[in-house]
Amino acid sequence: MYKIMTPGPTSVPQNVIKARSMWFPNSDTDEDFIEDYHELCRQIAGLLHTENEVYIMDGEGILGLEAGCAALTEPGDRVLVLDNGIYGKGFADFVSIYGGVPVLYSSDYRNPIDADELRAFLEKDHDFKYATVVHCDTPSGMLNDVSAVCPLLKSYGILTLVDSVSAMFGAKLSVDDWKIDIACGGSQKALSAPSGLTLISVSPDAFAAIERRTAPIASFYCNLSVFRNYYKDKWFPYTMPASDIYGLKEAVRIVKEDSGRLKRHARIAAAVRKAVTGAGLTLYAESGYSPTVTVFNVPDGIRADDIIEIMRREYKILIGGSFGILSGKVLRIGHMGHNANTDDVSDTLDALDKTLRFLEFDIKNDMKTTFMASVGKANFGIY
Ligand SMILES: *Cc1c(COP(=O)(O)O)cnc(C)c1O
Repeated sequence: MYKIMTPGPTSVPQNVIKARSMWFPNSDTDEDFIEDYHELCRQIAGLLHTENEVYIMDGEGILGLEAGCAALTEPGDRVLVLDNGIYGKGFADFVSIYGGVPVLYSSDYRNPIDADELRAFLEKDHDFKYATVVHCDTPSGMLNDVSAVCPLLKSYGILTLVDSVSAMFGAKLSVDDWKIDIACGGSQKALSAPSGLTLISVSPDAFAAIERRTAPIASFYCNLSVFRNYYKDKWFPYTMPASDIYGLKEAVRIVKEDSGRLKRHARIAAAVRKAVTGAGLTLYAESGYSPTVTVFNVPDGIRADDIIEIMRREYKILIGGSFGILSGKVLRIGHMGHNANTDDVSDTLDALDKTLRFLEFDIKNDMKTTFMASVGKANFGIY
């Protein structure tokens, strides 16, 4: 058994594992299930600060991104794809698959999207049906300021679709104030439930766009409109994964009762950055550091895979490599959800420190010591 310190999936608390193994109802025929599902969706909406409809869909986080694009894209629609990271750029594929015309707005991958620069671009061209933006672009650990970007887009009449899969519940997310029409999350990141569920909120403006469509959404399973009246009709478009949803319910309860959560994420992330840079490593990003994941450059002369392998074999700790253009260049420590606690993070830094020394990297300051000195009391809180 490894300590899972990747930026999702995270380790899963025992209470969530237990909740998944309890008795659960027939999700098609038992009315209690619809009530439980509906109540859970309302609780998630509360945590996301939104009055919008929230749905839990049966599929990994990617399902929400695709379902959002499927719902808002009609053939020929121009869609603005904000690209300052690997997931950011990836949205262009979903737009194309559903017949839209993605227009990339590309900016530096080491810094968040600059709202003033975006405004200057929109002044010249704002004929877009919707725009996609990633809250935390996990491969680079970049946190975009969605609170600035989405209201700006909306002021030009552009609908907003946000991938907050790796930020939601670890970083602040205020869906209504920030004017997010579709916000996507997943079960396996800062919620720390197993992978397999998508959470998605849908605004009245997004529903209006869906209703105005002339072409039907080209999918059944990946289709937000089939969920629209589930509660009124007491009917789901397909059988819901009941045990997954009861596990999620426990994960949401933990988040709701964990009042110091966002501060703890921020404090642990800041202390990890201090430890990493204090040791002589460099961070990938120049600004916009996510509170859920820290991404650092692999030192010259050392292979990323060797670091990962030694940590796994000798210390039984899993950290993440990266992919796409960052493959082999950076490493990632996830400190989100259940993993955002001093013990697991300090063990991880200690193992990283020893691994790097073994690989003859000249560590300037002991990582665990730096981390512990700056983290303060960032404990689990209630569980
Ligand atoms: C994890 C994640 C997803 C979901 O994708 P998987 O890699 O399949 O888990 C989507 N967007 C972001 C930003 C993520 O971090």
